[in-house]
Amino acid sequence: MNAPTDSRAKTRPVVLEPLFQPVSSLGGVGTHLSRMLAKVAGPEIVDMLWHLPVALLDRRYTPKIGELKQPCVATLELTIDRHQSGRGRTPYRVRCRDETGFIELVFFNVRGPYLLRQLPIGEKRLVSGKIEFYNGMPQMSHPDAILPVTARDRIAIVQAIYRLTAGLTAPMLDRMMRSALVRTPPLPEWLDAGLQRQRAWPDWKAAITAAHNPESEADLLPETAARQRLAYDELLAHQLALALIREHNRRSGGKPNVGDGHLRQAALAALPYRLTGAQERALAEIIHDMGDSHRMLRLLQGDVGSGKTVVSFLAMLAALETGRQAALMAPTEILARQHLATIAPLCQNMRVNVALLTGRDKGKARTQTLAALAEGRIQIVIGTHALLQPDVVFSDLALVVVDEQHRFGVDERATLTGKGQGVDTLVMSATPIPRSLTLAAYGDMDVSRLDEKPPGRTPIKTSTVAIERLDEVLDGLGRAIAGGARIYWVCPLIEESDESDLAAARQRFALLHARFGGQVEGGRVGLIHGKMKAAEKDAVMAGFIAGALDILVATTVIEVGVDVAEATIMVIEHAERFGLAQLHQLRGRVGRGSAASTCLLLYAGPLGGTARERLAILRETEDGFRIAEEDLKLRGAGDLLGTKQSGMPDFKLADPVRHGDLLAIAADDAKLIITRDPELNTSRGEALRVLLYLFRRDRAVRYLRGG
Ligand code: ADP
Ligand code: MG
Repeated sequence: MNAPTDSRAKTRPVVLEPLFQPVSSLGGVGTHLSRMLAKVAGPEIVDMLWHLPVALLDRRYTPKIGELKQPCVATLELTIDRHQSGRGRTPYRVRCRDETGFIELVFFNVRGPYLLRQLPIGEKRLVSGKIEFYNGMPQMSHPDAILPVTARDRIAIVQAIYRLTAGLTAPMLDRMMRSALVRTPPLPEWLDAGLQRQRAWPDWKAAITAAHNPESEADLLPETAARQRLAYDELLAHQLALALIREHNRRSGGKPNVGDGHLRQAALAALPYRLTGAQERALAEIIHDMGDSHRMLRLLQGDVGSGKTVVSFLAMLAALETGRQAALMAPTEILARQHLATIAPLCQNMRVNVALLTGRDKGKARTQTLAALAEGRIQIVIGTHALLQPDVVFSDLALVVVDEQHRFGVDERATLTGKGQGVDTLVMSATPIPRSLTLAAYGDMDVSRLDEKPPGRTPIKTSTVAIERLDEVLDGLGRAIAGGARIYWVCPLIEESDESDLAAARQRFALLHARFGGQVEGGRVGLIHGKMKAAEKDAVMAGFIAGALDILVATTVIEVGVDVAEATIMVIEHAERFGLAQLHQLRGRVGRGSAASTCLLLYAGPLGGTARERLAILRETEDGFRIAEEDLKLRGAGDLLGTKQSGMPDFKLADPVRHGDLLAIAADDAKLIITRDPELNTSRGEALRVLLYLFRRDRAVRYLRGG
């Protein structure tokens, strides 16, 4: 058997090889250290370069011991007096002096012989680090640097500070970073010469070197020439990759995928309501794209409940009218089933066959579904990742709809669209993104927004309540349950792996169960979390949907999509720990029926200023687009983009808010490049290929004919 070939390694420009070595190739980096580096930066040298300093340490203060009055960072010239080895929990201490007083250096878990070599008794050393006071005595634990006095110029007087992780110390990371920078080659210039001149930006290597060697606080700002250049590089790589993929889609040829309208007319006539203005506009935009001979790539953006499913269904019908097929892919089984529940009844009088295909379908049933799909007897298939499997074959697929698009990779989308000829793509997102950021998030993907809710919704009453008033809240819930209410109770689980959060959720479940569970085994309170098996989750969910449960305690797994119109109360615990967009999405789980709904934001005080403002905005409005804009103002893009929920690409160097002007320039630049040098064959084009690989946009490069 042949070893699998790494096409990436084959085509990546040689000049980049030093940067794509594993961090373990740096001297003195073993498995343990490389695991920590991977955690904080990434697996390869290039990831370390992207890990820019967040602060700086000024070691220029060189006082005498007698002058030390309060905690500070200082560099001292000390004579070593004596060593006192530690035992168990007591630290190892080294007493030092100068002519004005004494100081103790404190070490935990450090071997004596090593320290005796570093700090020989009776000799002088330069010692730099953080001074603290213990019983009025100055001391320094784990100095950042210990050097002979002759090496005064080797103590970096200003030192870059990086984000660390447990076990990785500042001096360790700093040393690794320096050797990574030494490995950094100069790269060919990919910038437009005019732009570079006008902005006075340094070349790439100078920029990365400068960014890692700040000399003052000002050098850490996103506005410095070095950081602007690096941000621009990243934005350009992103925009250029999107443009290349887009161009590839265009070239690979679409088909007019819109029929005569008979199915759409029948469906509209059968709908118990009229489309909102926003739905009509969005549908017209989609139909226009599907009708021309380019392949559509359009995003349908709108809050939960804004009516995206119906719009996508009408788009699917347009494709079906031509005798072709449509597929809808959702990230979870629950969501897929819900789409089916919305769509199946609408198909009944139209002789349109809809089928569900998820990972749970096995054996004969699955075989039958696949056969019907391949023969064209099923016109619409709704499913999960299971749709991507190679044996899922269509007779003639024309339209792919992807729900919660950020849960899927570009490759997964491409796999599904690759199952037909000239397939149009509609992606949907329930995470409204501020206008200023759509370009960063989606490049030149076309965007339709549903910014108007279907009529007849009762506003959700939102209040904030301190956790100290839990008893009152529980009394209130008791009354509501007696009146037949169904309740979500959300506990934060920021990372799936966080055991203490999971424990807290279990504890809350136990408390609610004890109070409201009733006598029945299992009771009327359910718990659902990410660590449960899919079948278990579905069973609990089904219980809540059917009304067998009054309270559903959940970590954020319910966030995406779940629709239980009878649920009217949403309690969010530790609301202060959630992002605004996330709170908005969670709240959107209620207020879906005609009954009045309530959202209680429980918080553990005291609240900081920003947390207070966030919760206030939530009380004020239910408009997801407005909430997204406010979120952006309050948090800066850094946080906003950091969350997976946002659907934004994870930029390392660019801050689409602070570098907003660069984003627009990069988008124009990319467009111009695609027009003038679509195959990247000019000398700038060659350099741009290096740029794409540098930012791991290998996929986009493969779309070049000569790539
Ligand atoms: P989304 O997919 O954006 O979350 P859905 O398409 O599931 O929203 O719609 C949410 C609910 O609103 C569904 O029950 C749907 O039947 C209903 N709905 C959709 N459009 C309208 C409309 N124009 N008027 C009234 N109800 C609507
Ligand atoms: Mg929906």
